[in-house]
Parts: sequence; structure tokens; C-alpha cells
Amino acid sequence: MEIINRKQRMASIARKLRRESKTVGFVPTMGALHGGHVALVKEARRMSDIVIASIFVNPAQFGANEDFELYPRDLTADAAMLAEYDVDYVFAPDTEEIYGPGFSTHVYVEGLSETLEGASRPGHFRGVATVVTILLNTVRPDLAFFGSKDAQQVGVVKRLVQDLGFETEVVVVPTVREESGLAMSSRNAYLSEEEREKASVIYLALRDAKIAFKEGQRNAAKIAQIVEDRIAAEPLARIDYVAVVSNDTLEPIDKIDDKEVLVAVAVRFGKVRLIDNLVLNRKQ
Ligand code: AMP
Repeated sequence: MEIINRKQRMASIARKLRRESKTVGFVPTMGALHGGHVALVKEARRMSDIVIASIFVNPAQFGANEDFELYPRDLTADAAMLAEYDVDYVFAPDTEEIYGPGFSTHVYVEGLSETLEGASRPGHFRGVATVVTILLNTVRPDLAFFGSKDAQQVGVVKRLVQDLGFETEVVVVPTVREESGLAMSSRNAYLSEEEREKASVIYLALRDAKIAFKEGQRNAAKIAQIVEDRIAAEPLARIDYVAVVSNDTLEPIDKIDDKEVLVAVAVRFGKVRLIDNLVLNRKQ
């Protein structure tokens, strides 16, 4: 496994791999790797000849009052984990390598960037879309792997891949959870033991929603209420939003028909903000 810091070297290796007709699978991450990232890497390993993972804590997707400085970083542990799962190349540029002097080009996906996470975290998806564009343009992978825990990010990335004409297929990997049901996240490291235990209420609430749906509930507001009530009953939880929206457009809906519906939540435990979601009517 080779660790690459320079964009040009990464691009030239990727060019060589393309000439050799190797299929390249790409897994972009912000490091502090956990079982969720491992699932992406395993899927990439299964589907591609060459696996490239990136580790870049992207300042552009953090708001001024967010946790960019505090975000967990451990390149040594991350590299060991990636080597263990047979990753071929790790692209780990520093901030200046991505955002060089005079950097002033941004990518903004209209519509999808404006609700849910976009409303709570202004500028977040502009940062995501910009860095994903730079990474995809550098690596030009055949396949790029993203987790469905970040459902809105998946929508934004799929949109930009289509609109900007990248020849990359976006592969979505299901959310990996701890035994308690809590979705794995690099930010879980900052939960106290008690908060971590109580945070499983997010999963339990989503599960309640799924049960209600299976039992015939089709009223979106009622589904949202079930999730809200369950989470609000946990004193350590502070709800940022609970939304029941079209999985396609992320627009709110009233009645659930046979289209995919995203139940998305953001909840704070102490200083830590967690997101999770569930798709009803999942096609496949
Ligand atoms: P991050 O390092 O948090 O930016 O995440 C990198 C990638 O891993 C993104 O595509 C995430 O959606 C994905 N990911 C994060 N947590 C999980 C999880 N628990 N299960 C599956 N994928 C995840």
C-alpha cells in the first residue's frame, strides 16, 4: 500500500491504472476510520481491481462553529486499517494541496443542498460537492463508494456526477451499526459512555417508524411524530430535526405511497451531533 500526498502523483498513478484497463474503486473518507468505512472498503475490494481510499478532513464542509479543529485524526491507525483490508493506495493530501493559493472555484448542487443537513449546516454541501469534484477529477474512478448513513450526501454526489458528466458509478453501501443499533460514526468517539448508550434511541425510534409503516401507517406526519416522541423521551437527546421526505427530491411529503421515503434525523447528545436515517419502500 502506498500513501500519496500530492494530487499530481495521485492523478498520474490513476492515469497509469486506466491505461492498464484496471477498474478503480474509490472510497473517500475523512479518516478516524471505523466499521462503516471498512464496509465501503470491502465492497470496493470486491468490485474493483484497484482500491484507492482518500483521507482528507475537508475544512470547506465544516461551519465556523463546528468541530473541524477537534475532528479526530489518526493517520497511522487509519493507514494500518486500510492496509489490513488490502487497499492499494491512500490519498492523504493536506489542506493546501487541495485548496492551493488563490483557490476560488466551488461546486454547488442546487435544491438538494438546501434542506435537512443543508439547512442546519449552511455551506456544508458546497464544501462536500467541491471536494468530491476535486477528488473524482483527480482519481477518475470507475466506482466511488458512499455510505447511506449520509443519505443526502449520496443524493448530492449522484446529482453532481450526472450533471458534471463524471464517468464514475456511485455505489451506496448500507449503514453499519454497533450492536446497540447506533450508527457507526467518527463522532461517536466524543460521546461519553452514558451518551453512547443512550444514543441508540435514534435507531430505536427509526425502528418504531418502520414497524408503524409495516403495520399500515401511511401518514408522514404521524411517522415523524413517532420518531420525535421516542427520541424526545430520552433526556440526554436534543432533536435538531426529524424529517419524512421523498428519497428522490428530499421534499416533504404528506402521504406515503409506493415511492421511496427517507426518514432522516439529526440529534445532539452533549456537544456531539449525530445523524441517521431509514428508507421506507426501499426498491431493489
Ligand atoms: P466520513 O469519513 O464520515 O466522511 O465518511 C466517509 C464515508 O463513509 C461516507 O460515504 C459515509 O457515508 C460513510 N460512512 C460513515 N459512517 C458509516 C456507517 N456507519 N455505515 C456505512 N457507511 C458509513
